Amino acid sequence: MATVKSFSGAVRLKDVSDFIAPSQACVVSLEPKKDGGEGEGELVRLQSRAGSSAARGPSTSQPASEASPVKVTLNDCLACSGCVTSAETVLLEQQSTEEFLRVLDTKAETKRVVVVTLSSQSRTSLAAHYGLSPLETTSRLCGFLKSLGVDLVLEDNLGRDLALLATLEEFWDKYENGAADTLPLLTSECPGWVLYAEKTHGKLVLPHMSKARSAVATLGSLCKGALPANLGVDPGRIYHCFISPCFDKKLEASREDLKSGEFADLDCVLATTEFHKLLEAKSFDSQGGPTAPFDDIFQGSGTQRTQYSARGSSGGYLEFVFRECALRLKGRDLFPRDQPLPLKVVRNQDFQEISLLADDGKILLSFALAYGFRNIQNIIRRIKQKKMTYHFVEVMACPSGCLNGGGQMKDEGARVIDRKEIVAQLEQLYHHGEVVLRDPRGNPNLGQVETWLGGFKSQKATEVLHTTFHDRTQKTETASTAMMIDF
Ligand code: SF4
Ligand code: SF4
Repeated sequence: MATVKSFSGAVRLKDVSDFIAPSQACVVSLEPKKDGGEGEGELVRLQSRAGSSAARGPSTSQPASEASPVKVTLNDCLACSGCVTSAETVLLEQQSTEEFLRVLDTKAETKRVVVVTLSSQSRTSLAAHYGLSPLETTSRLCGFLKSLGVDLVLEDNLGRDLALLATLEEFWDKYENGAADTLPLLTSECPGWVLYAEKTHGKLVLPHMSKARSAVATLGSLCKGALPANLGVDPGRIYHCFISPCFDKKLEASREDLKSGEFADLDCVLATTEFHKLLEAKSFDSQGGPTAPFDDIFQGSGTQRTQYSARGSSGGYLEFVFRECALRLKGRDLFPRDQPLPLKVVRNQDFQEISLLADDGKILLSFALAYGFRNIQNIIRRIKQKKMTYHFVEVMACPSGCLNGGGQMKDEGARVIDRKEIVAQLEQLYHHGEVVLRDPRGNPNLGQVETWLGGFKSQKATEVLHTTFHDRTQKTETASTAMMIDF
């Protein structure tokens, strides 16, 4: 568990590379700010778990004098997961179950089209919780959401496939053109890591960050661009909710960079545990409730009866990019597609690497994955000391990756199971035989996406498939509390 050794004045965090547990206090703003003080953007409110149930409702319904919550703007937040992983202590007003239900309840007047994307990690977590197979889980969840009035329920594979292809081309371009000063390419799928990089390391790290949008951000822009065009509705009528393995995706959804015109690409993010509470509140019947297939932005309603995955339960960036680059360099498939890549554990299970050698023994490719902040810190230290030898690093904030995200179901049964044992079980379920492994290029929608974009090299493709990052280190340095993080 992340241990806060000292929690006043200068904050020191130790042993943070461990499984995430919620905390009730923010490490940035230990002193409450006055309303109307400095800071921009949405507010994160930290409230006492011991507060009344009313205090857990949307903050708009609560008199300011009642709870005196500490207010931290999203610009201050370091995404340290201290509270963003706790459903009860963080209330992002626009991204709550209450708001999701309100949108559904007012659909008749507003004529909104409600779209829900179920992340593969959330589906896996709920499958384990309910003791169902992946396909049973998705068909019951789709049936449940349709019964609530949701118009389209999507798998996240189209966004993931596009994000993988964009990352491959970005890396290959840098690798081939010898852009050594911006290698290694560091993946940017994980918002916890992205915010940490922006606010703690800024210029040192940002040139290395992959500009490919995350899978759900890519899918979000398709939902606000291609989908309204297909349906013949105004983009403002689309309401897109993502069921996510972590709370950090709420922060990603609030980024100004992730918009299509004036509309946010993601309107709402609910963590798996929040979605589970909704399932329970609405008496979800995992054994006999209604069933429905997935919908598809391009193929239409109810057209996707199969569930697809790519290797790697945290997006599969290393798996895909390494294989494809090895194929391009050697002219043949060196690694069996039905087996995971033979990664070598370097320091711990969350730091692994793989290399491709030329015939003369020279290293052609050197890739690594670094999960959890201790391993991330190691990568950053090597970049700082100019001792980096990797070409590509898949970076994730959570130890064990997204299946262990802070928003996933926790074991609440009598038997206390080691968290790593749970993650191992989830990995098996994630790669269950019912789930079809598919190369991203096998996605039947790519042709329609390409047509809609006007080609994958067009200006529109750049806007839809890529994002930008910002150096926020100075703002962090002037935060109200001196902060020292010691990994
Ligand atoms: S995640 Fe952000 S708001 Fe929450 S404790 Fe960390 S810095 Fe504070
Ligand atoms: S590693 Fe954790 S914080 Fe990052 S995207 Fe995955 S679940 Fe979210």
